[in-house]
Amino acid sequence: MKIITISYRLPLSIKKQNRKTVITQSAGGLATAILSYAEKSKANLTWVGVADFEKSTWENHKNDFAKSFETEPVFLDKKLNKSFYNNFSNSVLWALFHYFPSYVEYDDEGFEAYKTANEIVAQKVNEIYEPGDIVWIHDYHFLGLANLVRQQHPNAKIGFFLHIPFPNFEIFRILPSNAKKYILDGILGANLAGFHTWDNAIHFTECVEKIMGYSQRNFIFNQDTHRTKVGSYPISIDFDKFYDSYDKPEVATLRNEIRELYQDKKIIFSVDRLDYTKGINNRLNAFENFLLKHPEWREKVVFLLVIVPSREEITKYGERKRMIELNVGRINGSMGSYKWAPVVYQYQSVDFNRLIALYSSADVALISPVRDGMNLVAKEYVASRKDARGALILSSMAGAAKELQEAITINPFDTELTGEKIALALNMPQEVQEVKMKRMQDYLRKHDVFRWATNFLTDTEEMHDHDNKAQ
Ligand code: UDP
Repeated sequence: MKIITISYRLPLSIKKQNRKTVITQSAGGLATAILSYAEKSKANLTWVGVADFEKSTWENHKNDFAKSFETEPVFLDKKLNKSFYNNFSNSVLWALFHYFPSYVEYDDEGFEAYKTANEIVAQKVNEIYEPGDIVWIHDYHFLGLANLVRQQHPNAKIGFFLHIPFPNFEIFRILPSNAKKYILDGILGANLAGFHTWDNAIHFTECVEKIMGYSQRNFIFNQDTHRTKVGSYPISIDFDKFYDSYDKPEVATLRNEIRELYQDKKIIFSVDRLDYTKGINNRLNAFENFLLKHPEWREKVVFLLVIVPSREEITKYGERKRMIELNVGRINGSMGSYKWAPVVYQYQSVDFNRLIALYSSADVALISPVRDGMNLVAKEYVASRKDARGALILSSMAGAAKELQEAITINPFDTELTGEKIALALNMPQEVQEVKMKRMQDYLRKHDVFRWATNFLTDTEEMHDHDNKAQ
């Protein structure tokens, strides 16, 4: 038996070092969690994803690296991949599912490319599938896949998990009819359809009822070949990895460096991919409001704003970068002085140790997405605070807000009130910080990514096995 996991990106990194190509398997939270389940259930793991490297590179180097699981790259034609990924996936689904209907740029060619890419990936899955395997499909790039695999293997165990929000009916109905039907039928191909929150699960269920006319009982849809259970499975992190990293000597050195650099100031920190869903401009405006209303904090606080480059080829992302940079410049110009820059901005990624050093140096993490499926950064910040210090400000529009109950929640659109919440967070007494942090840590320690993967895969298997017994 094996677990076949499908995601757009493969957990591989391919780099040139001294003119040599070096491939490494990257052990992100998702990969380690699935591997741990595979080990316990004595299964192998095969990962299918779209290659972002040439076929020849793969053929020449696929045996040169240490493997903890098999990798099956799918090589898509460049033009097709661009249309599939940039157009329908990111300029239609991402925008619409995050409640940005005005950002949707729909064209039929993009949808055709999306369907073709899903079919090509389904072919790969069908080639390697053997009876008894579990197929775990991830995210909005592969909404049609469960149904395509089901058509070939009516008895397969299939789980589908959506890593972004599922929008409500009024937003979802904006898609053309054929796309709506393709997506709903696609997801219904799975034995288990998982979402980050119950809100999302309910939105999906309502869309199926209203658009397809199917009825459900207890969030289960009956179909000819199988039943589909719909549920909430909030993704999480490898808690121990973040918690234990606090004490790593490399992290401690970096933390000391940061604290020394800003020794007479409080640090507000945020890190996100550059994305219009992350509410970065609202956050900057809230910070400006805070400085205007609380001049006593001037020169006593610094906002470290780390933005990780993302999807630079898509127009909306380039536009957003320019808007943010103008805003940073404007705030530093009007509020700062030759002695003090209120916002320290970096448009580059940070490595893991530096990320933990930043998380664990920050007095306040300011996380303000206008819409986010989960937001792992919020969970990582909490897990990194072995010292039980720091305050978390978190948008109620993030899935994580449903779980991190001790966070200071904000409406990211209300930049006046968010400014006040920044002052509140900076003034939070240490004892209160400690109580809140420890409570959130207790929760995350129990609800980590291993538990998430185990729950999801166990429920997929149970759903499937129960149906097969009943037949
Ligand atoms: N992250 C990263 N590179 C960085 C900084 C952060 O890959 O330079 C990671 C971060 O640790 C987190 C992820 O990016 O695990 C962001 O996940 P989140 O759910 O917050 O947002 P997403 O980018 O998936 O929308």
